[in-house]
Amino acid sequence: SKPATDQLIRAELGHSTWTFLHTLAAKYPANPTAEQKAEMKSFVEMFGRLYPCEECGQHFREMLGKEPPKVESGVEFQKWLCGLHNKVNLRLGKAEFDCERLNERWDCGCKV
Ligand code: FAD
Repeated sequence: SKPATDQLIRAELGHSTWTFLHTLAAKYPANPTAEQKAEMKSFVEMFGRLYPCEECGQHFREMLGKEPPKVESGVEFQKWLCGLHNKVNLRLGKAEFDCERLNERWDCGCKV
């Protein structure tokens, strides 16, 4: 496909994926069980191997190597993900997101 199309797919895929990931993080328990921690750790690792944009996945895996997922609590995981997303923002020349304001943007949808 044409490079312009690739960029559009990458942006749409990326936006939808960040929505999924931040919502997943918002819903991750404040006090996860050992099983939930192990599951989230493997999810993040598998996500990095399977993400369907090769270059993005490669960067993601490099970032994971430097900063492994923090799965001890909901707040830690949410902050970790926010920091990672900010690294991608930086690389793409996008504005940094204020991680103190995560709750205003991302809702766990816990009532549904
Ligand atoms: P997005 O970055 O998609 O963000 C969506 C919304 O999340 C924003 O509108 C904002 O409200 C909120 N947000 C922004 N920053 C944060 C944050 N730090 N924490 C919480 N919420 C935030 N694209 C490339 O071209 N090259 C790449 O190498 C690349 N790597 C990627 C790696 C991964 C793992 C993912 C998921 C995506 C990657 N992308 C990459 C896509 C890129 O990050 C964007 O998704 C895409 O450019 C669309 O950007 P956007 O402006 O819609 O906002």
